[in-house]
Amino acid sequence: MEKYKDQKWSGQKGKKFGHAGRVEDPYLPAEGQEASLCTQCHALYQEKRWFYDQKLYDRLAGTDKVREIVCPTCRKVNDGYAEGYLSLSGEFFNQHRDEIVKLLEKEASRVGARSVLDRIIRMAPEGADTLVVQTTTDKLAQRLGRAVYRAYKGDLKFHWGEMDYLVRVYWSR
Ligand SMILES: [Zn+2]
Repeated sequence: MEKYKDQKWSGQKGKKFGHAGRVEDPYLPAEGQEASLCTQCHALYQEKRWFYDQKLYDRLAGTDKVREIVCPTCRKVNDGYAEGYLSLSGEFFNQHRDEIVKLLEKEASRVGARSVLDRIIRMAPEGADTLVVQTTTDKLAQRLGRAVYRAYKGDLKFHWGEMDYLVRVYWSR
């Protein structure tokens, strides 16, 4: 998450990055404000935590008690910035593609209802018989891979990149 945050520093020459000035958390509500909210997905940010609460959102939206922003998850979706990839392939997959896509969407919305951070960015075909699902977190790609495996068996593999936040999950049957 840290790496995605906009970094601000004084920019004074000769000063080491991260040393000069303090990095202001753009999501932190200002003094007198109760929370920040995302105008795109209606998530709220309070006490360093993102969550959904429609009643609280309705109460705070448009008031000076809240800072209106676009949350990191929506920014990742807008920018197509994935931390997880799930590749689905195989003859069985292609015969049951619609059904499996529905299962993935259902699982993603179940997870996403509780967690602001986990969301599918997009599903795009790769070549003739592979579908790649991009997710905002490595965790969601793993969960989706496990959900397909639980329902349909097949082969499930995980490959972590050099940086441990990026995962590629492969499922085939
Ligand atoms: Zn959002």
